[in-house]
Amino acid sequence: MRIGDIEILPVLDGTGVEVAAEILSRPGVEDPWSCHLEHVEADGTLRLPLGGFCVRTGDRVVLVDAGVGAFDDGKYVGGGLLDSLAGYGIAAGDVTDVVFTHLHFDHIGWATHEGEVVFPRAAYRAHRADWEFFVAGENAQPSAVDKLSPLGPRLELFDADFTVAPGVDALHVPGHTPGSTVYVVSSAGRRAILLGDVAHSVVQLSERDWRVIWDVDPEAASAVRNRFADEVADTDDVLVAAHFPQMRFGRVVTVGGPRRFIAV
Ligand SMILES: [Zn+2]
Repeated sequence: MRIGDIEILPVLDGTGVEVAAEILSRPGVEDPWSCHLEHVEADGTLRLPLGGFCVRTGDRVVLVDAGVGAFDDGKYVGGGLLDSLAGYGIAAGDVTDVVFTHLHFDHIGWATHEGEVVFPRAAYRAHRADWEFFVAGENAQPSAVDKLSPLGPRLELFDADFTVAPGVDALHVPGHTPGSTVYVVSSAGRRAILLGDVAHSVVQLSERDWRVIWDVDPEAASAVRNRFADEVADTDDVLVAAHFPQMRFGRVVTVGGPRRFIAV
């Protein structure tokens, strides 16, 4: 995807498989997936791409999220992120910045590998609220502690919105997790919004009230999701999330019908 002078490349690491009805539901509706069968496999599972997005702006190479890593638990399988980058001619040493939308295990996998920093030249940044929730707090998750602790002081924590690189802005949108952050890429009057896990399925952009089981604050997460979907509706701005099918960008359209996501 090209936004003005900036290029955004989907970087696939692997795939996760979940039973659709177990992770995404619509309150008060018995079988909401029956109206959206095109988004689920015949066996009722949802295939979730795992990975991140590489943003090339000027001389900066910004990786937004780092996939699940060299990992296989039968449901989530990763390992391809560095090869995906290499396919674009990008080596680990070329990456200047690594930023995270949040610190769930499927977004931090290549932060480090076996205790070693994967992107040796990169500045790493994450929102302080997620660090406190997933790494430093009493309910810390071992996956986050293992992957992020080896970064030591190389990981900078932020607690205010900031500009990551020219045309790439970090925007704090708590809900899915306390430190959830979207990255807004802007150039030449157009925008692409990298949603992180503000949405797990494109259905959540069409319908207003679907919920995923992993939202720490479902009400806030829903408000954030609808805010972005409404904000970009019927404009040239595009949205994307790592877990969207084929990691494809899309527009939100309301003309001639209900709000819906159309891949571009
Ligand atoms: Zn995720």
